[in-house]
Amino acid sequence: MTTLLIKTLRDICGAAHVLTEAADIEPYATDWKRTTRGKPLCVVRPADCQAVAAVVKACRSHSASIVPQGGNTGLAAGATPGEDADEVVLSLTRMKAIRALDPVAMTVEVEAGAILQVVKEEAEKHGRLLPVSLAAEGSATIGGIVSTNAGGINVLRYGMTRALVLGLEVVLSDGTIVDGLRHLRKDNAGYDWKQVFVGAEGTLGIVTAAVLRLVPLPRETVTALLSVADVGTALTLFALAQDTVGEALSAFELISATSIDLVERHAGLKSPIAAGEWYLLLEAASSLSGLEPAMEKLLSDAFEQGLALDGVVASSRQQAQALWELREHVTEAEAREGGGLKHDISVPLGAMADFLAEAGNAVSEICPGAGFNIFGHLGDGNLHYNVLLNGAKNADAVNRAVHDAVVNHRGSISAEHGIGRYRLSEWLRTKPESEQRLSRAIKQAIDPEGLFNPGKLLPKQAKGDAV
Ligand SMILES: Cc1cc2nc3c(=O)[nH]c(=O)nc-3n(C[C@H](O)[C@H](O)[C@H](O)COP(=O)(O)OP(=O)(O)OC[C@H]3O[C@@H](n4cnc5c(N)ncnc54)[C@H](O)[C@@H]3O)c2cc1C
Repeated sequence: MTTLLIKTLRDICGAAHVLTEAADIEPYATDWKRTTRGKPLCVVRPADCQAVAAVVKACRSHSASIVPQGGNTGLAAGATPGEDADEVVLSLTRMKAIRALDPVAMTVEVEAGAILQVVKEEAEKHGRLLPVSLAAEGSATIGGIVSTNAGGINVLRYGMTRALVLGLEVVLSDGTIVDGLRHLRKDNAGYDWKQVFVGAEGTLGIVTAAVLRLVPLPRETVTALLSVADVGTALTLFALAQDTVGEALSAFELISATSIDLVERHAGLKSPIAAGEWYLLLEAASSLSGLEPAMEKLLSDAFEQGLALDGVVASSRQQAQALWELREHVTEAEAREGGGLKHDISVPLGAMADFLAEAGNAVSEICPGAGFNIFGHLGDGNLHYNVLLNGAKNADAVNRAVHDAVVNHRGSISAEHGIGRYRLSEWLRTKPESEQRLSRAIKQAIDPEGLFNPGKLLPKQAKGDAV
């Protein structure tokens, strides 16, 4: 059966694009963090949408499940296959054409395997911005950002990826190609089905192409770093920043003193300002000029009102880049420290300080020696709340304590990275049954045989069972 399937896949994609040797499939079998490892039956790399549809039909007729994969930078192990050597990894990386870019309509139509950074660079040549910015953009793909509904540093201003998706082309489990590649800003002709595939983590179908909304490329960008004593003060400063720079505010990131210490020790970087318990990295961007005086005023008001302990406005592009590097190296520095127990939480802004106190107390009680590497998109109410266990073994209890505090404040246990395999048990424990039932109903309606990405986002169903 397996031999026959592999022969069929080779007929569809060419022998060079069906990988079966252990060394060849290794990069596709492990997640970015290198903590989850799977064993795929093979890796298949179709060249176009028709080939994807043929691969899906072949896998279905051989009862082989499919794990869609883009750049494999996801942080929820959603693109990692199971261990039973019965799942086919379908890599979209050969499908990377930018089919059309319209600077007037401000849209781009692009294939799923295109690298986010490449599409952004193309848009910039036309004076446009694809406003999804994340540290993995040099490897993450359009199909991946759509399927995880990626966030990043500019959500505050432009929304999550969902807000940018105008149209999708998807392949369903029976091989049907649904062509919804419309370049329309307004389309209320029936259910907005494409949104069901956004953030579905590859569990409903394969995204093969997308039409995304662009925005004007800002001509002026101003970046500032401030230190503050506590999160309450950081939120007061957030309100002040919104009043002072208004809709130009495009990033408002929180970085803990522990995170700065990690990047200073492991990435050879140095904060240019005096320490506080917390740091804020702000960016304002506009197509018009005049932002710098507004940012200078924000800083002087922040000092006058006793909000900021220290601060600097970058005076050059290089200085701005150096400030951003402090933020961008936190994840890597944490990995060099030995890794942390990652949480990707969001809570309403008004509950953030209480959440941090509650979660911190609960974790310290379970694990007295724990450290806290906390950083993230404060403006969106989203923090990466990573616990440095320092050798302690009670990760599950810590996980539950953090998520219980999230639930107590009506937050989310995954603000932007998704559920995948990594958070499935916690999703089942914390998500209300009525919402779980709705999720199972969607899966049942679109992928009733459970062909796509089993065991991700929802529990794996036994062959032939309803979801
Ligand atoms: C250093 C670093 C920083 C990051 N920062 C952020 C951040 O700030 N914000 C954020 O949101 N994320 C962030 N991420 C996570 C990650 O980059 C995003 O989730 C990204 O969108 C994943 O894209 P990918 O192409 O690598 O997808 P993959 O990792 O390959 O896949 C992710 C999920 O999407 C599915 N999938 C992929 N392609 C398709 C497709 N064509 N059709 C259907 N399903 C598909 C997979 O099955 C899997 O479930 C970061 C990751 C790293 C390593």
